[in-house]
Amino acid sequence: MTDTLLFEIIRNELMDIVGHDDVTVHEAERIAYSTDYYFAPQVWIDRGQTPPKPDWIVFPESVDEISRLLKLASRHRIPVIPYGGGTGSQGGGVPLYGGILLDLKKLNRIIKIDEESYTVTAQAGVNGQHLEWTLNKKGLTLAHYPASAYGATLGGYVAARGTGTLSTKYGKAEDMVLSMEIVLPSGEVIRTLPVPNHACGPGLLPLFVGSEGTLGVITEVTIRLDPVPEERRWRAYLFNDIRKGLEAGRRIMTKRLRPCTIRLYDQNSTQRLLKRVLNLDVQGAYMVVGSDGDKDFVDLEMNAIHEICTNLEGEDLGSELGEHWWKHRYDFYFPPLTYMLPQMFGTVETTTTFDCIYDIYMAKKRVIEEDFKDWGASYIAHFSHWFPWGVMVYDRFIIDKPPQDPHEALQLHTEIWGKAARTSIQHGGTLNDHHGIGFKLGWLMPEQYGTAWPVMQGIKDLLDPQGIMNPGKLGFTRR
Ligand SMILES: Cc1cc2nc3c(=O)[nH]c(=O)nc-3n(C[C@H](O)[C@H](O)[C@H](O)COP(=O)(O)OP(=O)(O)OC[C@H]3O[C@@H](n4cnc5c(N)ncnc54)[C@H](O)[C@@H]3O)c2cc1C
Repeated sequence: MTDTLLFEIIRNELMDIVGHDDVTVHEAERIAYSTDYYFAPQVWIDRGQTPPKPDWIVFPESVDEISRLLKLASRHRIPVIPYGGGTGSQGGGVPLYGGILLDLKKLNRIIKIDEESYTVTAQAGVNGQHLEWTLNKKGLTLAHYPASAYGATLGGYVAARGTGTLSTKYGKAEDMVLSMEIVLPSGEVIRTLPVPNHACGPGLLPLFVGSEGTLGVITEVTIRLDPVPEERRWRAYLFNDIRKGLEAGRRIMTKRLRPCTIRLYDQNSTQRLLKRVLNLDVQGAYMVVGSDGDKDFVDLEMNAIHEICTNLEGEDLGSELGEHWWKHRYDFYFPPLTYMLPQMFGTVETTTTFDCIYDIYMAKKRVIEEDFKDWGASYIAHFSHWFPWGVMVYDRFIIDKPPQDPHEALQLHTEIWGKAARTSIQHGGTLNDHHGIGFKLGWLMPEQYGTAWPVMQGIKDLLDPQGIMNPGKLGFTRR
C-alpha cells in the first residue's frame, strides 16, 4: 500500500485501538519486520533488495485489542501477520502482501502456574526462555528446549509445532498443549476445551496447532509442565555404521524406554561438527543419549540403553563426551559454527517410521550430493526427536559458494528444496517435522496432502472467508 489517504485513515484507526506509541510505520522498522530467518528474504536484504514490507506494525497488549484489530482488518480486507519472536525459518512471519504486522511480544503475562496439575497458562507472546526461568524458580520446567528459545515465543512454539532437544521424552509443543484461546479472523474470541483428551467430537485444539497464523491469532496457551528432574545424565557411543546406530535407537524406543534425548550424527556431521565442538576426531557415527528423572530410574534406564548400544557394537565413549555435548548443544546454531550467508544452506528435515528411515536418509543424501554436485553441495544429517514408531532426520544441504545474484541464488535454493522435499514425500516422510511450512514449503502442501488438500483449503475458507490471515502461507489459495 502506498502512502495514500487510505493509509493514513487506517493508521489513525489502528492508533485508536492500541494507542499512538503502539503503531509504527517507520521505514527502518518496516525493513526489520520484512524478514525472519528464511534464506529468501535474508539473501534479498543481503544483496541490496527489499522484501515485501508490512504497511503498519502494531503492538497490541490485550485480547480485546487484537479482536478489534482483526475486525478492522476484515472491514478493510487487509492482511494480518501474527509475529512472535520472528525466529521462524520458513518465511511464516514475512508479510508477503503487506498489511498489518501484529507483534505479539507485549502479550507476555504469565497468568497462572498450577503447581498441583503441573500446567502453566500464559499469554502467547511470552518469551520462551523467560518462561522457563520463571518456572525453574518453582522447581518446574516446560522442558521445551529449541535452539531458538532465546527469542521464540510460547505462541510461536505452538503455531509452528516446534520441538526441543528433550522432545523424545517430553514431546513436541503439540503434545504438551492442553488448551488455547484464539481470536478468529472475524474478531470472535474462542477457547478450545479445557483439556486435550476427551470424546467430544473432532479436535478443535489440533486445528490451530501448526496453523502458523493462517486461521487466527493464538492469544493464550495452557501447557503441561514437568518437575525439574533430580538428575540428568549423558553418555556417548560411536557406531562404525549408521545403520547400527539407527537400530540402537529403534530398539531403545520399541522397548518403550523414554530417554530425554537420543541424537545420532552421521559420519559427515560427526566429522564436520563434532570435531569442532567436542574436539572429537573419529570415523563413524556419534550418538549421545540422555536420561533424566529420579536417580534410581536413571540408573536403570542408562543400564538398559548401554546394553542395547554395546550389543550393536557401539563403542562406549563415556559420559564426559555426552556431558560436553549437552553443555555446548546450542553452539552448533550460532557463529562461528552455524552456517550463514554468504553460504547457502537449508534444513530439509523430515519424519518417518523406522522401516523407511534409512532409505529416506540415503535417497536425500544422493539427491543433494549428486544432483547438485556442480555446486559442491554437501549433506549432513543427525537423527534426533525419536517417537515410539519412528524418528526425525534433521538433514541439511550446504553450498559454500552459491550464485551471487539473488534471483539465481533463490532459484537454486528453491530447486534443492523441491527435490529434497519430494524425495521425503516419495519415501513415506513429511514435508517437515518442526520448523513449519511458511511460504518456503507452502507450494508443496497440495502434493503432501493429495486428495485431502481440498479439506484443508475448505477449513481455511470457512474460518477466514476473506483470506486476511497471513496470506501466502501454508499453501492456501488466496481469496
Ligand atoms: C538459530 C535457530 C534455531 C532454531 N531451532 C529450533 C529448534 O530447535 N526447534 C524448533 O522447533 N524450531 C527451531 N527454530 C525455528 C523457530 O525458532 C521455531 O519455529 C519457533 O517455534 C518460532 O517461534 P517464534 O515465536 O519466533 O515465531 P515466529 O517466527 O514469530 O512465527 C512463526 C509462525 O507462527 C506464526 N505465529 C507466531 N505467533 C503466533 C500466534 N501467537 N498466533 C498465531 N500465529 C502465530 C507466525 O505468523 C509465523 O507464521 C530455530 C530457529 C533459529 C533461527
